[in-house]
Amino acid sequence: MAKVMAINAGSSSLKFKLYEMPSEEVLTSGIVEKIGHDDAIFTLKHNNEKINKILPIKDHAEAVKLMLDQLIENNIISSYDEIKATGHRIVQGGKYFSHSEIFTKDVEDKIESLIPLAPLHNAAHLIGYRAFKKILPDIGAVAVFDTAFHMSMEEEDYLFPIPYEYSEKYDIRRYGAHGTSHHYLALESQKYLKGISHPKIITCHIGSGASISAIKDYKCVATSMGLTPLGGIMMGTRTGDLDPSVMKYCCYCENKTAEEMFQIFNKKSGLLGVSGISNDSRDVLSAIEKGNKRAILAYKLFIRRICDFIGQYFVRLGGCDLIVFSAGIGENSPETRQMIIDGIKQSLKINIDEKINNELKGKEGLISTSESEIKVCVIPTDEEVMIARDTYNLLLKDKE
Ligand code: ADP
Repeated sequence: MAKVMAINAGSSSLKFKLYEMPSEEVLTSGIVEKIGHDDAIFTLKHNNEKINKILPIKDHAEAVKLMLDQLIENNIISSYDEIKATGHRIVQGGKYFSHSEIFTKDVEDKIESLIPLAPLHNAAHLIGYRAFKKILPDIGAVAVFDTAFHMSMEEEDYLFPIPYEYSEKYDIRRYGAHGTSHHYLALESQKYLKGISHPKIITCHIGSGASISAIKDYKCVATSMGLTPLGGIMMGTRTGDLDPSVMKYCCYCENKTAEEMFQIFNKKSGLLGVSGISNDSRDVLSAIEKGNKRAILAYKLFIRRICDFIGQYFVRLGGCDLIVFSAGIGENSPETRQMIIDGIKQSLKINIDEKINNELKGKEGLISTSESEIKVCVIPTDEEVMIARDTYNLLLKDKE
């Protein structure tokens, strides 16, 4: 048995989950927010209780130390040595990583070289990794890449039809995102696919960031996000796929630079931009109930794009055995799932049990009936357990 910490570092935050491995028991989890501020917030979840502290935290290293000291104070560990390894979520692994890797100087350099592709994320992940290295210098660390699962795509699925030299020189391609989640969902799907020899799955990770993947034989063959998480389906604040001339024309009309418009397409578009209300699907859904026309329109666009991708992937896979819903919206919003199913059920001969669907929130379960030609289920995603698994397998398994 060994304690492994899964970490997701942001530019001013640090999310952590401590596991006992290989049993995958969650010992505690928490988050440090507003790092670099005098009123940083530390939250620890333990034994169904929440511990909250507001205090100044200068940097990520101070956040790591505070978190470990709190684990000792709350009798979760007795000393720092009890943590045997750390696993770090890395959003962009570029062309280099098709699976998780033990951190070395070379891995660190490659993650650093990919910062231009994921400026906020990769830079923050490295800050988090280095903070742990400073406080826990003697234990190993593993990098778990959000893009790795998508590296099995074929050229015609990942290349963009731009001048080929650009793709070659600058490694421009579809990298996708949420790969760790799609991979987890594929593995968890196995229980619904017994007896099927080459299973075809469409996984829908629909949260405030959202992506859809086509998976054959548990390998990704296509995914909706592109070079960055801006591509694919419409999201909470992101446009998803667009005709590139929309960018040029908006810049011209609004007298803005491409960089300014890129920020708007990332942060002020999607559900928020179309509804003018919120990026949170709950707010948009309650505005729909009140008859708000822009909210209705925003959700229609959102659902249509999801249905289009599912249809595209049904064709790409040559059929489909299972559709999986997951993440904030996919797990918790039966009305959204119902709207998506309504958009595809006639063509794909899907039948869901509306009562079961309505009752299923934040829990796993099958929502299709036995008449349905494609099974449909909800699986709560768990990216952290994938990080803990890969960390344990790469660093500790053989030593135990
Ligand atoms: P991310 O990890 O990309 O930040 P999440 O997977 O946490 O996103 O999903 C956040 C989204 O999930 C928000 O748009 C939120 O409205 C939605 N969500 C969470 N709970 C519910 C719910 N009960 N009903 C509808 N939407 C929900």
